[in-house]
Amino acid sequence: MLNDPRSHGLWELTAPAAPETGQLAGDLTADVVVVGAGFCGLSTALHLAERGVDVAVMEATEVGFGAAGRNVGLVNGGMWVMPDDIPKVLGAQHGERALRLLGDAPLLVRDVVDKYEIDCELERNGTLHLAVGDAGVSELRERHRQWTARGAPLELLDVKETQQRVGSPAYAASLFDPRAGTIQPLAYVRGLAKAAIQNHVRIFTSSPALRTERRGASWKISSKRGSLSGKWVIVATDAYSVGPWASVRREQVHLPYFNLATPPLPANLRASILPGLEGCWDTKEILTSFRMDRKGRLVFGSVGALRNGGHAVHTAWAKRAMSRIFPQLANIEFEAAWFGKIGMTSDAVPRFHEFDENIVGFSGFNGRGIAPGTTFGKTLAAFVSGDIGLENMPLPSSTLETSRIRVLQESYYEAGAQIAHLATERF
Ligand SMILES: Cc1cc2nc3c(=O)[nH]c(=O)nc-3n(C[C@H](O)[C@H](O)[C@H](O)COP(=O)(O)OP(=O)(O)OC[C@H]3O[C@@H](n4cnc5c(N)ncnc54)[C@H](O)[C@@H]3O)c2cc1C
Repeated sequence: MLNDPRSHGLWELTAPAAPETGQLAGDLTADVVVVGAGFCGLSTALHLAERGVDVAVMEATEVGFGAAGRNVGLVNGGMWVMPDDIPKVLGAQHGERALRLLGDAPLLVRDVVDKYEIDCELERNGTLHLAVGDAGVSELRERHRQWTARGAPLELLDVKETQQRVGSPAYAASLFDPRAGTIQPLAYVRGLAKAAIQNHVRIFTSSPALRTERRGASWKISSKRGSLSGKWVIVATDAYSVGPWASVRREQVHLPYFNLATPPLPANLRASILPGLEGCWDTKEILTSFRMDRKGRLVFGSVGALRNGGHAVHTAWAKRAMSRIFPQLANIEFEAAWFGKIGMTSDAVPRFHEFDENIVGFSGFNGRGIAPGTTFGKTLAAFVSGDIGLENMPLPSSTLETSRIRVLQESYYEAGAQIAHLATERF
């Protein structure tokens, strides 16, 4: 994609080919027009099509071009924020509903992958949130308390079990979520596209939505060489939004995040690291994440953009950090490197927007979009079909905000990550 190995990195190298799609040409109609072919847009399209609704998707570039094709591939339950904070932001009714839906969201991903036999390296072995120091242990204890009070099957693991599962003594405890797992994200989003097409969804790529106008009871969305008209429009463009709904992008602050992948590790090294194949991230503010792919590559990531001076700083840090956590990897080089932007909202909770009559969408997944995007897509399908009303949505409808200090905050994130990565892991 883009002929740039740093945009989709390893995932581009190992994903099955995307289904064949073409550019939108001529003036076409559908019941529902979906803008954006990521997890949320394609899940909406697929779940609507399963209900017999006529859906057409327009994607500015390619399926999975946005964050869907660039991420770590942790199929997480819940959000970043502490469970108790979600009802505080959304109100008790929406908050608890959102928690239930997002906690179980990885199970929906499993169901969709099974139903459509999507070839996407899905591992169902859970995730480990790893505690760094005493502060990390306190945070995980509190998270565990708040989730288990809601009946979630999370387990707090002690230092010994954490060491056995990770293959490193670097962490003081961990929170295991058996619902979660890992996935090859570009393969998953391409699989969603294939499943949607099998269900008669039309997907148009290289077809950005450029203009929107009301035509009687329909909306006409124009692209370069054609248009799609429909009664409903789903905006699923999130952090990579361009065109009429760029406002979605502007209300977020974009956190750069990179990943580096080792070559497939020899069997002895592979057996010594994450033998259970859980996906991991730690409690540090400038966090570190790691996971295995199906071929035994360790995918190691953190905050930062692999461009300009950042490339050398972050890559050198990653080598030091990886060999501190896993000394047996000290001489291993990386074979792929890529980065993307994570759309963060002011309160770290996603948004549901009603842009106009019958134009709606979810955005602002705050680095948790694989399972939530899939689940919110299914929810949108139920909403558009009239099965649930606004009062049953997991999020209340929000007014679009503008982040006034967005550019400043984004530079701060990158500068902060570079300073932290220069300063740490030196010894
Ligand atoms: C580096 C990184 C690591 C991450 N790690 C994880 C993780 O481990 N687990 C997790 O759950 N989440 C993770 N995320 C977040 C997750 O990838 C996103 O939340 C998710 O992809 C959002 O899905 P989406 O469908 O809303 O948007 P996207 O996947 O970004 O898709 C939006 C699509 O809309 C298209 N588009 C934009 N404007 C237009 C237009 N005008 N017309 C037509 N098409 C348009 C874009 O080209 C794009 O393809 C990570 C993100 C990044 C960047």
